[in-house]
Amino acid sequence: MAEQFDVVIIGAGPGGYNAAIRAGQLGLKTAIIEKRDNKKLGGTCLNVGCIPSKALLHASELYETAEKDFEGLGIQTGKLSLNLAQMLKQKEDAVEGLTKGIEFLMKKNKVETFLGAGEITGPGKVRVHGEKQLDIEAKNIVIATGSEVTPLPGVEIDEKQIVSSTGALDFESVPKHLVVIGGGVIGLELGSVWRRLGAEVTVVEFLDRILPTNDGEVSKQFQRILKKQGVKFKLSSKVTGAEKLKTKVKLSVEPAKGGDSEVIEADAVLVAIGRRPYTQGLGLENVGVEIDKRGMIVTDHFKTSANGVWAIGDCITGPMLAHKAEDDGVACIELIVGKAGHVNYDLVPGVVYTYPEVASVGKTEEELKEAGIDYKTGKFPFAANSRAKTNHETDGFVKVLADAKTDRVLGCHIIGREAGELIAEVVSVMEFGGASEDIARTCHAHPTRSEAVRQAAMGVEGWTMQA
Ligand SMILES: Cc1cc2nc3c(=O)[nH]c(=O)nc-3n(C[C@H](O)[C@H](O)[C@H](O)COP(=O)(O)OP(=O)(O)OC[C@H]3O[C@@H](n4cnc5c(N)ncnc54)[C@H](O)[C@@H]3O)c2cc1C
Repeated sequence: MAEQFDVVIIGAGPGGYNAAIRAGQLGLKTAIIEKRDNKKLGGTCLNVGCIPSKALLHASELYETAEKDFEGLGIQTGKLSLNLAQMLKQKEDAVEGLTKGIEFLMKKNKVETFLGAGEITGPGKVRVHGEKQLDIEAKNIVIATGSEVTPLPGVEIDEKQIVSSTGALDFESVPKHLVVIGGGVIGLELGSVWRRLGAEVTVVEFLDRILPTNDGEVSKQFQRILKKQGVKFKLSSKVTGAEKLKTKVKLSVEPAKGGDSEVIEADAVLVAIGRRPYTQGLGLENVGVEIDKRGMIVTDHFKTSANGVWAIGDCITGPMLAHKAEDDGVACIELIVGKAGHVNYDLVPGVVYTYPEVASVGKTEEELKEAGIDYKTGKFPFAANSRAKTNHETDGFVKVLADAKTDRVLGCHIIGREAGELIAEVVSVMEFGGASEDIARTCHAHPTRSEAVRQAAMGVEGWTMQA
């Protein structure tokens, strides 16, 4: 007889493994299924996403700091050189350590792990296509199969000359000229890595701005900063084809609105135009799980159209981010056991882990204008923040947007070192429905960058003190 579970989770990324941990904590008999070829848990995030990209961002930033800033800081070294193989190895070590950590957490929470592809064969029935084929049964099935790279017609990914984000984490040598197609988070992060290590980087973006969903002022300023660092931009442009030569790729690029085509030669091309939900081979049709026209599984509070089948993370609506997938997983399991699981998609922070970082939460100015909401703005530049000045890291600013009548914080947008850490304070205040005055009257340690958040909040009522 097939083994019976309370919940079977398909996919062991941040959505799936956090759902499994919560299910284990709540005493559910839980199984998780993962099909990655490397047999590792952690999904896109740990294997080829958040973690390896941050490992390279960290190491490449230190390399550039050593190259450009050490002398001014009074640090003398010998001739600097890059050991790319070691830089890639320490990235793999980070991945290895963290994926092992997920295995430990599965055991700690008594979650049974099955390696292989999960297929829903009928109501409450899942087949695992692993080394052996195995059938298991569950009262609840949670789909957490994540997303995959969106392909670009005419620019075929071979993960050598034309790569996705996965290939861009593993170049064997620094490309002389890297063309990044797509000016979103992933393209700008990985573009930054290779620029710091010596590549000439050109970003081709279809729209007339980078980071199209961010606050407009932030996008503009961020582009200026990246340009100063040496990144070249071709906005309002589309890549229509790629011709692979022995060591080069010739890309055909046209104005987005149409017009004369030009050829850009690259040593490597990174296709980073977005990600799409991944549900291949899952057997959705066997139980009637509905998907929308973008391929997303349609859910209502994580319930799909099929009884007892739930879905979370990148394969459903909402921002494709690891922490959103994690929160989905927790809320979904809590709903399964009859608790009040909920995720506030309006307050999922977004971070770009470049130098400087870009972090945002809540509404942008454009969204507030569009919605006809009367708002006030407080802004503070890091050039006036003592910690940033002391450390010679003055690029960027904090912008707080608050309701003009109630002072409730509606959004916050930060460019600056550690912006991703600074935004957490504002997310908490917003979750509690707090006002800009709550931040402005909260004591912040000196000298810290967090003082810039406070000074920006003071600015909403016009009493910024230190600029
Ligand atoms: C280069 C890059 C950098 C990123 N950086 C960040 C970042 O800094 N911060 C951030 O928040 N997000 C980042 N992301 C996005 C983040 O990785 C995803 O949002 C997150 O991994 C989604 O989690 P998930 O659990 O929904 O899916 P995934 O992490 O994609 O996991 C899904 C898992 O399901 C498995 N699977 C699929 N089908 C089956 C099946 N039939 N049977 C068994 N297993 C199956 C897959 O093998 C995969 O391991 C990044 C992504 C990339 C590509």
